[in-house]
Amino acid sequence: MSHVIGIDLGTTYSCIAYLEGSQPVVIPNLEGLQTTPSVVSFTSTGERLVGTLALRQAITNPRNTIFAVKRLVGQKFASPEVQKARERLAYRLVEAPNGDVLVSLDSRSLSPQEISSMILGYLKTCAESFFGGKVTDVVVTVPAHFNDHQRQATKDAAQICGLNVQRVINEPTAAGLAYGLNTGNNGTAAVFDLGGGTFDITLLEISDGVFNVLATNGDSYLGGEDFDNRVLEWLVEDFRRETGLDLAPDKLALQRIKEAAEKAKRELSFTLETEINLPFISSDKSDSKHIRKVLTRGTLEALTADLVEKTVPHIEKALADARLGPESIGQVILVGGQTRMPMVKKKVTEFFGRVPEEHINPDEIVAMGAAVQSGILHGRVQDLVLLLDVTPHSLGIETENDGYEVIIDRNATIPTHKTKAFTTVEHNQRRVKIHVLQGESPLASLNVSLAVFELVGIEPAPAGVPQIDVTFEINADGLVQVSATDVETGRQHKIEIRPSSGLMPSEVKEIMRSLGEGEGKPGADG
Ligand code: AMP
Repeated sequence: MSHVIGIDLGTTYSCIAYLEGSQPVVIPNLEGLQTTPSVVSFTSTGERLVGTLALRQAITNPRNTIFAVKRLVGQKFASPEVQKARERLAYRLVEAPNGDVLVSLDSRSLSPQEISSMILGYLKTCAESFFGGKVTDVVVTVPAHFNDHQRQATKDAAQICGLNVQRVINEPTAAGLAYGLNTGNNGTAAVFDLGGGTFDITLLEISDGVFNVLATNGDSYLGGEDFDNRVLEWLVEDFRRETGLDLAPDKLALQRIKEAAEKAKRELSFTLETEINLPFISSDKSDSKHIRKVLTRGTLEALTADLVEKTVPHIEKALADARLGPESIGQVILVGGQTRMPMVKKKVTEFFGRVPEEHINPDEIVAMGAAVQSGILHGRVQDLVLLLDVTPHSLGIETENDGYEVIIDRNATIPTHKTKAFTTVEHNQRRVKIHVLQGESPLASLNVSLAVFELVGIEPAPAGVPQIDVTFEINADGLVQVSATDVETGRQHKIEIRPSSGLMPSEVKEIMRSLGEGEGKPGADG
């Protein structure tokens, strides 16, 4: 019997779970830990390290240690987000020929998908060692507001390491599933998910085994890392004021400060003050310089209050889309490690007027929900009947003068499809171009370009005579598919697709070949 596995591929930490009977259980990694740092490193001897081992040597090898690659998955190099990330990352980013972003190591460049596949490959190895047998089928989670490129890139990453993705599901939906299964509670729930790199709010109705997502909203660039960076900036600025030395160009020092900042931030969820000690962080002609600084919870809160505040408009939009008020939410579930921060809990409590559910492990619940979803797909979960999720972004096409026509509205229940008739505007026109976009802006150029679909081989005819029905579909993974039918003949119409981003299927296969079918290897795998 095949194993029922779910993976939460997080920005900072990842987690893997399986279904034991009808209960989801976390699979420990090779070091015996419940979660694995989403970090990959390449040593000077060419050894590849994943997880804790990679994290441990990050300080001495910052240029070849890759953190938070999830923030780069499915992104363009020129995007403001990637450009902003470049300023802080100790590793280098370069532009791929198709405009995507690549991670540039001392020896070679790798796509974010390849690096994600190394993390997934490690988790696969952990599961195989746990079960003593091969693992192939898996449900993988993504942030709810991930667009088509980001979802496809995650799927490609899994394929590269030899995993067959049964379903891609949204992280907050997975958390809702695990919670619902565990408690048996019915009602309207809000899942507030603030992880290492992303924020999602999802509203769902749970009713006797039917999980109906009502609305979702979020921000790909809001997470625990931003909190760490605030503390880092505060320390760097303080050091500059005291010593006149600028640490910004010193990647090694920044890496040490970032680790210390994250540690201090975590501690301040449980204590009111903590000391940050970084001896020999720099030196000038006369002396070695050290950082020794007390950080209080109050200062941390002042440094990051606006980040917590940034979640509010997203919650409001999700509530408006679901036509609900905060008072109609029966349960509030916190997911993602950053929700351990007392200021985050306080904000959520104030907003909804109720205390979030206790006894949920925010680091593990998403992977557990993914395992539950895998169990549903395998027919191993009896009490659950149906999961109805939604698409986070509107899907549409470019029209004249940079216009945008929405075909499928955001928060439509998936899978879904809509058909639109296309024709020619010139006599004997042989091709019709359809530029498919995702987003909410009325201007085409401000939305995310998914692909250009070209209907080719149209028979010569006067303008307006050919009739081609184009069906836009969003499948259960949240992925977009387009097909076309010639109305007269009823035949499938030929389409040429030029995706705006990502690896082509042939490239995925090529990478798999070069890796020997992506065999998962232990944390240190040369
Ligand atoms: P996740 O991606 O859900 O694993 O969330 C990881 C994020 O949660 C990282 O930014 C961590 O620094 C943060 N985090 C973990 N534990 C705590 C804590 N006790 N207090 C504040 N943030 C935390």
